[in-house]
Amino acid sequence: MTHFDTIIIGGGPAGMMATISSAFHGKQTLLIEKNKRLGKKLAGTGGGRCNVTNNGNLDDLLAGIPGNGRFLYSVFSQFDNHDIINFFEENGCALKVEDHGRMFPVTDKSRTIIACLEDKIAELGGQVLTNTEVLSVKKKDELFQVKTADTSYTSQQVIVTTGGKTYPSTGSTGFGHEVARHFKLAVTPLESAESPLLTEFDHKALQGISLDEVTLTYDKHVITHDLLFTHFGLSGPAALRLSSFVKGGETLQLDLLPHLSSQELASYLESEREKSLKNALKAHLPERLADYLARDYPEKVKQVTPKELDSLLTKIKALPIKVTGKMSLAKSFVTKGGVDLKEINPKTLESKKVPGLHFAGEVMDINAHTGGFNITSALCTGWVAGSQFPNSWL
Ligand SMILES: Cc1cc2nc3c(=O)[nH]c(=O)nc-3n(C[C@H](O)[C@H](O)[C@H](O)COP(=O)(O)OP(=O)(O)OC[C@H]3O[C@@H](n4cnc5c(N)ncnc54)[C@H](O)[C@@H]3O)c2cc1C
Repeated sequence: MTHFDTIIIGGGPAGMMATISSAFHGKQTLLIEKNKRLGKKLAGTGGGRCNVTNNGNLDDLLAGIPGNGRFLYSVFSQFDNHDIINFFEENGCALKVEDHGRMFPVTDKSRTIIACLEDKIAELGGQVLTNTEVLSVKKKDELFQVKTADTSYTSQQVIVTTGGKTYPSTGSTGFGHEVARHFKLAVTPLESAESPLLTEFDHKALQGISLDEVTLTYDKHVITHDLLFTHFGLSGPAALRLSSFVKGGETLQLDLLPHLSSQELASYLESEREKSLKNALKAHLPERLADYLARDYPEKVKQVTPKELDSLLTKIKALPIKVTGKMSLAKSFVTKGGVDLKEINPKTLESKKVPGLHFAGEVMDINAHTGGFNITSALCTGWVAGSQFPNSWL
């Protein structure tokens, strides 16, 4: 069979959910994925545990999607994160909530989520072709022609869910942007988002240290979340979130103990004056970080002069870190930019110029924070795109 009502290109979260929705709405549906397996990028999220959604309210969702989240108002009114949670629970895949509302399968295995989506596609009669790359999409006489290396498929409707352009080894290489350009739709410039930060800092001393709930500040942007020192700079959610607001050349301030004021810290140190400074700091900070901070000061707390105390408190509460750049697009987590939202109807996700052509997921100019927000956007837009019927059928 080479004719389908709906063909979906790309089997990430957006494509799998679009396939489920399309088949659920009674359409003959084909999903084409170039990898051997579906959901390769999804499998790597949440450290391999699959951060499938976030359990926040609508305001939390919009705050978690700094890149054009408002475009999704109508999508979320049709299918939102709570529908995602219900979907998995109803289909035998129990979820649990972790910090910052992040949701994972109770099994802590991405495979569980992907298997649940695959099983649902099969149950609803959606067809899946893996190991098959779509080479071109054209439209002739109201029908789309979707070409792979050995077959030409036709359909009334195409949903492009090929993702962005980060981690190209997962299959997301920007093919959907080419499809958009073929149909003369605008694509906004692509940039790294949720990118680890390259910094000018003593990386060797701090590499590998991870911190819970620190505050990273640049200008009016204040982000409290976990942070990781790496061999090149900063990673972890706090750095990834701040990456949307910097390019290189900026100096960030890191508050290592945001829950304690400078005054509280000074009183604490006063109460520990007989201790070594290193040991006093270790009560609040990881050992290597305490060593690093204490190395420029006298050994004992009681030997620290008022001027030295001021300088130490500044290092703990506002450690300056100079950003020299961001990781390349390929090594960032999310793509900022994509198919221009002016081209897309926010209710149906259909192209305004090309009837029957839909977009869902990261291929669109929408970028969110890690923490489940991109995946929420992908699954919800996938559902909505899959539930549409081309006008010619109505
Ligand atoms: C390491 C990492 C960690 C992340 N962690 C998080 C997180 O914790 N929370 C969060 O919200 N987001 C996270 N993200 C982002 C999230 O994974 C993506 O936003 C999401 O997967 C996008 O879904 P999608 O379906 O739009 O595209 P993708 O998941 O990129 O899927 C697109 C699919 O299309 C296929 N494809 C492309 N071209 C073709 C073609 N020509 N023919 C056939 N198939 C094609 C690809 O092979 C791919 O499988 C992370 C990303 C990375 C890289």
